[in-house]
Amino acid sequence: MADLFGSGSVECWKKCSVCLLRNSGSRVDYGFEATPQGSLICRRHHVGNVTVHITCYGGVGEIGGNKILVSDRDTKILLDFGAGFSEGLDYYSSDINPRRVNGAGDYFEFGLLPELPGLYSEDALQNTKLKHSAPEVDAVILSHYHFDHMGRISLLDEGIPVYCGETTSLIHRAASESGGSPLDGREVRTFRTGDRFQVGGIEVRPVHVDHSIPGAYGFILETSEGPVAYTGDFRFHGPMGSMTQDFIAEARQARPTALITEGTRVAVGDTKQEMGESEVAEETTRLLRANRHLVFSSFRGNDVDRVLSFHRACKATGRRLVVSMKVAVLLEELSNDKGLKVPRVGKDVTVYLRRKRTGSYDDKDYSKWERRFLDSGLTAEEVRKHQDEVLLHLDQWYLPELIDIKPEKGGAYIHATTEAYNEEGERDEQVIRNWVGHFGFAYHQIHASGHSPMANVGELVTRIGGEKVIPVHTERPDLFAGLAKKGRVVMPVKGKAISL
Ligand SMILES: [Zn+2]
Repeated sequence: MADLFGSGSVECWKKCSVCLLRNSGSRVDYGFEATPQGSLICRRHHVGNVTVHITCYGGVGEIGGNKILVSDRDTKILLDFGAGFSEGLDYYSSDINPRRVNGAGDYFEFGLLPELPGLYSEDALQNTKLKHSAPEVDAVILSHYHFDHMGRISLLDEGIPVYCGETTSLIHRAASESGGSPLDGREVRTFRTGDRFQVGGIEVRPVHVDHSIPGAYGFILETSEGPVAYTGDFRFHGPMGSMTQDFIAEARQARPTALITEGTRVAVGDTKQEMGESEVAEETTRLLRANRHLVFSSFRGNDVDRVLSFHRACKATGRRLVVSMKVAVLLEELSNDKGLKVPRVGKDVTVYLRRKRTGSYDDKDYSKWERRFLDSGLTAEEVRKHQDEVLLHLDQWYLPELIDIKPEKGGAYIHATTEAYNEEGERDEQVIRNWVGHFGFAYHQIHASGHSPMANVGELVTRIGGEKVIPVHTERPDLFAGLAKKGRVVMPVKGKAISL
């Protein structure tokens, strides 16, 4: 066929991106054939049987819970396998949980996980109607280490390898050491930006993006129907916003057949305060400077950008950043990452010692991984003595520590996480406010989102292009019609395959 048409610029009358790729000299080449009418058509369209399907089993009309199956002939790849934030809110709550003994069964009951053969471990299926069978999925490709992207991996068959960034594998190791990780017990294969790797018939190209956790990636999958780009979670306003730009440039160049994009903040009237991470550091510095008492904060410990912002604010005001043991383990693990700069435990940050069991800070009261911090850590009493010299970062479930610390009135609490977006969240927030009020603290919200506002999502969609745009990880996929060119948006339906 190549001889017939030469190597010049030929174009299939369907003008699909695959043919245009051939014109630009790309590796992806399906060859051309003549139609009975005499025009040229690429084999992809001539053959007519589409072989690539994208099926979203989560992240459909909800924020998080991404579980996206890309199948290309015999190859099946899962892009993330997370737990949705709102998943099961109608049936499960903080008090009513799926039973561990029933594995995937308590999720199947309400359609919270797909009942697919060759996906789950024997353990996860032992009390369900679905019989265990050999894995049919070749790999899970994980965009980043957030629960809404990897929280259900623990239920998958151990024979399915998990591909993730090198940084993500360090975060996994730290979590594993300090309590457990959904990736425990399975093969973890790592990549970095610039790598390409093959999973069955699909070549995968990871490209870093900026998000509220280090080691976040988007992907370009070279399928037999053309490239599929997946953004993972992204933002432009973080310290590494240029990484998201790198992803856009690569994805745009690939001319994707399909673009799967997140849209967390795609909403009518996104009212969240627009703050960059550098402003978080500035605002925190101002607050620390103005306060002569204990300042206490809660935020996601694996948001290393936030740890750095708070560390910077502490340095500027002569305070000391005090973190939980879990965060300390994470920082130690991430210090092995050459691409990251993290505060050093012991030198830049100090560890807070919680009382456990006997309450006497005895070695035996602590797990093995905790003991190494006992000599250098600060007890509640020590924090009380130095309350105007520290910024105490602990998660909100550490609030009862305030009972031991007995801080003077006049301190400040920094709520450095996203504002509540549902009733359950609002209730939790009220509980925090009650604690904060009881101890005579002032409540402050200082936070930069991990996600881009609607306008920036629109910008990404416009710049990358793509024949089909599939919105996931959003409560308002319908609003994408206003962000992408007419006809490009394909609304995903949970469990229904989209053919490329
Ligand atoms: Zn997410």
